[in-house]
Amino acid sequence: MKIAIYPGSFDPVTKGHLDILKNAAGIFDKVIIAVAHNGEKKGFLTVEERVKLIKASIENLDNVEVDAFDGLTIEYAKKIGAQVLIRGLRAVSDFEYEMQLSQTNSALCDEVKTVFLTTKPKYNFISSSTIKEILANGGDISKFVPEPVYEYLTKREKQ
Ligand code: ADP
Repeated sequence: MKIAIYPGSFDPVTKGHLDILKNAAGIFDKVIIAVAHNGEKKGFLTVEERVKLIKASIENLDNVEVDAFDGLTIEYAKKIGAQVLIRGLRAVSDFEYEMQLSQTNSALCDEVKTVFLTTKPKYNFISSSTIKEILANGGDISKFVPEPVYEYLTKREKQ
């Protein structure tokens, strides 16, 4: 059984993330989308909120599970028996960082391989940080995020 993890901040999860997740779910037997606790970055949403919103956004993907983890991604991958780590690539600007990350991970544990996936062009430019900026300036984020995220964030913004 091929198990893949898709780790990230998902602060918040976007249509770009979901497209990557769907592609991965079509390739691997099981995909675990895992929210990383990041000590350095102060989150916009809590890890619990991010997990809840991902769960609400992936209803019909039955080989997908949602989780959160602390510490090194590669240790988490080993712990749950994943052989593959999924990362998304948007543009050349992602490449240098992602390449360094994947080579560091393979130096730490060569049994877990990184697989890069891309989205459909219409989701390619979407990022969690631009969504937060649009939201903070009163713009419409409905095109970029799944419905449960849209509802949650617009309600939260009005409070
Ligand atoms: P991180 O802080 O770990 O980069 P993110 O939540 O920003 O976490 O992203 C998780 C992964 O999803 C990364 O590999 C990122 O490149 C990828 N990703 C995010 N948005 C998109 C998108 N629109 N198209 C393709 N990949 C994406």
